[in-house]
Order: sequence, then C-alpha cells, then structure tokens
Amino acid sequence: MIDACLTIDGRPVGTDETFAVLNPATGAEAGRAPRAGQAELDAAVAAAKRAFPAWSAQDDATLRAACEAVTAKLQEHAEELARVLTLEQGKPLNGLGSRWEMGGAAAWAGYTASLSLPVQVLQDTNEGRVELHRKPLGVVGSITPWNFPVMIAIWHVLPALRTGNTVVLKPSPYTPLATLRMVEILNEVLPAGVLNAVSGDDAGFNIGAAMSSHPDIAKIVFTGSIGTGRHVMRSAAETLKRLTLELGGNDAGIVLPDADPAKIAEGLFWGAFINNGQTCAAMKRLYVHDSIHDAVCEALVAYARAIPVGDGLDEASALGPVQNRMQFDKVARLVADAAGRGKVLCGGAPGDGLFFPPTIVAGLTNGDPLVDEEQFGPALPVIRYSDVEEAIAAANDSPNGLGGSVWSSDIDAAKAVAKRMECGSVWINKHGAIQPNAPFGGIKSSGLGVEFAEDGLKEYTSAQVIFS
Ligand code: NAP
Repeated sequence: MIDACLTIDGRPVGTDETFAVLNPATGAEAGRAPRAGQAELDAAVAAAKRAFPAWSAQDDATLRAACEAVTAKLQEHAEELARVLTLEQGKPLNGLGSRWEMGGAAAWAGYTASLSLPVQVLQDTNEGRVELHRKPLGVVGSITPWNFPVMIAIWHVLPALRTGNTVVLKPSPYTPLATLRMVEILNEVLPAGVLNAVSGDDAGFNIGAAMSSHPDIAKIVFTGSIGTGRHVMRSAAETLKRLTLELGGNDAGIVLPDADPAKIAEGLFWGAFINNGQTCAAMKRLYVHDSIHDAVCEALVAYARAIPVGDGLDEASALGPVQNRMQFDKVARLVADAAGRGKVLCGGAPGDGLFFPPTIVAGLTNGDPLVDEEQFGPALPVIRYSDVEEAIAAANDSPNGLGGSVWSSDIDAAKAVAKRMECGSVWINKHGAIQPNAPFGGIKSSGLGVEFAEDGLKEYTSAQVIFS
C-alpha cells in the first residue's frame, strides 16, 4: 500500500482526508492520495510564486544543469516509479508499458534540458539594434490525465522549469501515486517551491478548475479530454492565462492499395493498441483499400490473437486492463453497438474485471459511433474504401485533428496523401511515434499550441523585444 503525499515548498505534506487509488488489474486498493482543498492549492501556488524570482534569475547553464539533475533522478528511480505506475495505471511493466514510459520520461527530460532559447538579434545596423528575448511567465499550472501520468507530467514540467518558470502539478485522481512520488524525488535536486504537487478527487472541490481560474497562475498546460479542455479555457478567460491544450484525438490510418499486409500488421496493431488504445495519438479508425482489405484484417487479427493480456505485474503481459470503470463502460458500449452494425473479427466480449481483449470490428463506416467517437480503449474499427479521395474525405470528416497515418510501399504517394490530412502529425508506415525534437499538437478540436522542441519551449515564455 502506497501512501502518497503532496509536495509544497519542498516539503512533503499530508491532508486529513485521503482518497483510494485502485489497481485496475485486481480492483484492490493500490494506495491512497491526499485530498487537497483550496488551502493546500493556495499554499502550493504561493510557494511557486515565492520561488519564481530566484529561479527565473538563474542563468541558462544553471537551469540546464538542474534539468539534467532531474533527468538523472528519473533514471535512478525508474524501476521504483515503473512499479507504482503499473499498480495504479494497469499497463504492463514490460513492452510498451511502464518501463518504456519511464524511459520516455527520461529521454524527454534529457532532450529538453539540452534545448535553449538564446537572445535573437533581429537587427544590428546603424539605425539600431533589436533583440528578441524570451522571458518566463511565472507560475505554470500543469493538469495531467491518467493514460501516461509520468511521461505527460515530464512533458509539462521540464520545458516550464527549463525556461525559468515554477510549477504546480496536479495529476488525475485515477493515477496520482507515481506522479506525487516523482515530484517528491525531484525535489531532492530542485530548490524549494520550484516544483509543487497537489492532488484531489473532486469530492466537493475541483482542483483543476480552481487552478484554471487562480489569479497567481500565469499559464495552464492541460492534457486531457476535449470537454474538460473547454472548461479550462472558460475558467482561464477571466485572468487571460496562457494555455497549451493537448486534447483528444480520433486519428485515422489510411492503407493504400500497394501496402504489404504482412509487413504492416505489427505497426498497425501497436499504432492502435499501444497502452490498450488509451493513447491520445493512437490510431482510432483504420481505412483500408478494398483490394487488400481482407488480407490486412487477417494479418491484424492474427497478430492481435497472439498478444498476452494480463496483470501488468506479470512480466509476460503485453497489455493490461482498461484503466478505469468509466472508460471500460464506454469501450464496452461502443463495441456492443458496433457488433450490431459490422462484423467482430476478434475480441468483442468484455473479460473479467476491467480486462477487455483487443477487439477489431470490420464493416463499419463514418457515422457509426465506434468510428466517430474517441473510444480511447482496445477496439479498432476497420472501414473499407475503394477510392483514395473517399478515404481522405472520410478521415478529415472529424472535429478532431491530432494525428494520422498513411501506409504504403511508395513513400512519395504516401506523403502526397499525408499533406492532405487535417491533423498536427502524420506518420508514414507507423503511427503515434512522437519524438522530443519534433513539435506535437492538435488542430481543430484536438488542442491549442504545441509541445516539444524549441516551438514547445517557446510556449512557456513571452516575447520581449529590446530596441537600442
Ligand atoms: P479528463 O477527464 O479531461 O481529465 C484530465 C485532467 O483534467 C484530470 O487531472 C482531471 O482531474 C482534470 N479536470 C477535470 N475537470 C476539470 C476542470 N473543470 N478544470 C480543470 N481540470 C479538470 O481526461 P482523461 O480522461 O484523464 O484523459 C483522457 C483524454 O485525454 C482523452 O480524450 C485523450 O485523447 C486525451 N489525451 C490527450 C493527449 C494529447 O497530447 N493530445 C495526451 C493524452 C491524453 P479530475 O478528474 O480530478 O477533475
């Protein structure tokens, strides 16, 4: 049993009330987290505000060294945090699970440490010199979801710290334990108040909403659903906060007629089912050309049937349970509906507890709920098409615009289709392969702003131009 604590001003803080965090593989309590209220949130924001002047005054080399020390701490505690992550999130330790998430967190932290935003000279002539400086914003509020709790927290926290901001972090109530522990660990190498963490479970007080309207928070970086993103934007309006919103996706994959089904099956499977489909930029609809539709379905189903699903602590598991009951019920509802409209090729029936087998349903089309809604779980609809123009139009016929993919043996042909897809990232012969040196973000309802690389770093700064 893990007893997590808040971190405020460099110190562990408990609360009178706590809430239970469940292990989705067993339904048993994995640990308890503090139920913070307005007082704890105000204390965390005040600590971050107090720490800001000294932290933002550090020179670039000091900020970089601090972020490198954070990276080293993540590496040192990777196995401990991976185990907590599996206990509360359900993902396997192995494969593309918790250890992989910890590796990603350290890789992102290390890369972000190496970035910088030096002063840019826009003009240096007899008429004068014009310099563009990038200044930190102040206190950044980070609100994270339950699918990749540690890695997404690092995506928020590192660019904020690297550019001289201080942070108050709030994890999802479904998965607060690894994040709270990580913040405790990172405080061993950060000055007090620079990185604070609060948690709560919405019992009478919604911390995320209170952060979004807090007068002393300058920016919110939010990763979560589109509906909550809209709430954040509304709450942030009064104080005109800066926002980065990484929201939901309903990514389409388009398989062109010249693709080789046997070669692409593994990539298609993991593009859709990574983290049990509970991934913002997972492939959530697959459009396959009529000429190879059946062969692609067969190859995908054969791959899916061989995947071991079980308790994430079992080193043999490649996929774990769905993380929570709400999400499980949503997937079950969408799959039951799809079964009445198309043909279930594999999976389809819920397992014990929160286990749901990888499910592939063919014979669906745009307009069917499993195609139109973000399932965020282990169920992939396959849509047959005969004309690539029709597939592009169907892929773009969505309010979302996070990612997309094109599968083909002809890279130029795939790129031509990729350019016409309405989304922030398009992958060819893979899906969802984000990297720290490439900006990532959604268009349309999938978000506002980007994360990663210099473009992502800039979102934690404001521009100041000095004319001399
Ligand atoms: P969610 O329900 O929107 O929750 C995300 C966070 O927002 C939680 O910490 C939640 O805490 C908090 N929250 C709830 N109400 C709030 C409010 N009014 N103001 C501020 N914060 C509030 O999302 P989720 O179910 O955890 O995550 C799944 C969704 O995230 C999917 O749609 C997925 O596509 C998206 N996602 C997007 C990306 C991306 O990079 N684009 C990455 C990962 C996930 P409480 O529950 O305590 O309120």
